[in-house]
Amino acid sequence: MPGVEILANEINTILRGRFYQPVSDSAAALFAALAALAVIILLGLAQGKYEAMKQIGVLAGLLALILFGSYFVFAYGFIVPPLVPVLASFIVAAPLALLRRSLSASVYLDERIAELLAAERRLFTNGRKRLSPDSNRLRLDTGEELESPTNFPTDKFYLPRGLEWKSDALGFLSRDLINRAVFVDSALRSIEDVLLIGDRDGQIIFANRSARRIFNLPERKLLGRNIFEQLNEAENKIADSTEEAEETLAQLTIDQNSIEREITVGKNDSRSFVLRMAAVVGRNENDAGETLGIIATLSDITQHRELQKTKNDVIALVTHELRTPLTAIQGMSEVLTEHAVEPESQRKMLLTINTEAKRLASMINEYLDITRLEAGAQAINFAPIVVESLLERILLMLEPLAAKREIKIVHCYLLNHTTVSADAERLAQMLTNIVGNAIKYSPPHTSITIETRASGGMLEIIVADEGFGISAEQLPRIFEKFYRAPQRQTTETTGTGLGLALAREIAELHGGYISAESEPNKGSTFTVHLPLAPENREISRPS
Ligand code: ADP
Repeated sequence: MPGVEILANEINTILRGRFYQPVSDSAAALFAALAALAVIILLGLAQGKYEAMKQIGVLAGLLALILFGSYFVFAYGFIVPPLVPVLASFIVAAPLALLRRSLSASVYLDERIAELLAAERRLFTNGRKRLSPDSNRLRLDTGEELESPTNFPTDKFYLPRGLEWKSDALGFLSRDLINRAVFVDSALRSIEDVLLIGDRDGQIIFANRSARRIFNLPERKLLGRNIFEQLNEAENKIADSTEEAEETLAQLTIDQNSIEREITVGKNDSRSFVLRMAAVVGRNENDAGETLGIIATLSDITQHRELQKTKNDVIALVTHELRTPLTAIQGMSEVLTEHAVEPESQRKMLLTINTEAKRLASMINEYLDITRLEAGAQAINFAPIVVESLLERILLMLEPLAAKREIKIVHCYLLNHTTVSADAERLAQMLTNIVGNAIKYSPPHTSITIETRASGGMLEIIVADEGFGISAEQLPRIFEKFYRAPQRQTTETTGTGLGLALAREIAELHGGYISAESEPNKGSTFTVHLPLAPENREISRPS
């Protein structure tokens, strides 16, 4: 280009005033500060999910903005941008902001570690290791000790711990807390009582081993069920109305009242339990006093109940049953010693004393027999017994008694040589009581039929009399201990009220039972059902 043209262009530029203008120092400083501020603010905002990507994106975007902005103002605005100070500020601010963020994250982590440490000290130990409350040292599994910070979490000038310390402490604490949680879980599962834990709505979230055994359900079937429905079902109760269940739930969760009542679980082999329900109440700062769920325990009191019943029986025996014969003995012996009594009356009185003393003795013996059998303290000696022979042996003793009352005993053995596995002595005791009753409770000139037959794998020994009979109201009670049908308690039919109770216990111990049918003034039929020994099962098959 010729020199004159260059000069003309210069003059033109001067005349039009188109110059590149440098920014002032203060404006450059302002832009640099703005860049640093943008870095801090944008990095502060780039948090949460994909944090690293967001941060890189934010920094790259900001750098691109600075570069493009500078180019733009240079090319079109005729301004020389303060690129160097702005870039220097960007480069210094970015790592500093990142450092600040990582420091606050580090302090946050230390605070969480402090919380875990506090929990570690307060929660149940797993029985193996425990952080001593006055020590600030965490003992790691390796045996190494870490000193725990004492000045966090609220100290103003707190300098966070290094990453290695944190990862060690976190590793130790999480392992330790998991161990403890597992230990508590195992401890709850091992509780002998039934333990059910429900959430606030009453849905089962935990059931221990005993619960699975008593309800006869696997854990997966129990979990998620409604606790009240489960208890109702176990009790065989027609389900309570929903309102009733809701009312109980509210009583537990809102009023935080506890509930205690007795329930019976199971149909045939029923057991008694005390059911206790209460609210699980939070004790952390954030949930102190709040209901977190409900807890139900069932404690087995069956044995306790049975003991109580035995105790009551003993009291009844001593207070009522033993007193009657004792009073007779006492009264008559007093008369005999203090007064002159005619020889005939004297003989009668002595006879009564003897009868009553015998009654007293048999009452005590029978009662002891029953309690021993019930408690399983009396060994049963099972052996093959030929029933017909046993019956003959008993009748040999009882027939004279029947003959005395002019009662005929008819033997009618449909089977012959039937064997059952039984304790001969106990079986004889049972049959003597039943046949003895038939004689005792029958008027003269009647007959008693004794029959044996087989039905459905069971042997039936039927003793039918034509005696006084038992009324329909009294019939269900005759197997109770000490129960005697009232109208027949004459001296002629002395008894203890224990014979049938003992007979029933013996039948049950042999895997059988006794049934009774009766019609007043027509007669009674007692049937003993016993399992047949396997070798004569075929005789019981219907032909
Ligand atoms: P007890 O010592 O009074 O005979 P049990 O337990 O043997 O006691 O019988 C209970 C009651 O059942 C008797 O008191 C009697 O009233 C009634 N009982 C039992 N067997 C007969 C029978 N064969 N006929 C009428 N009543 C009977």
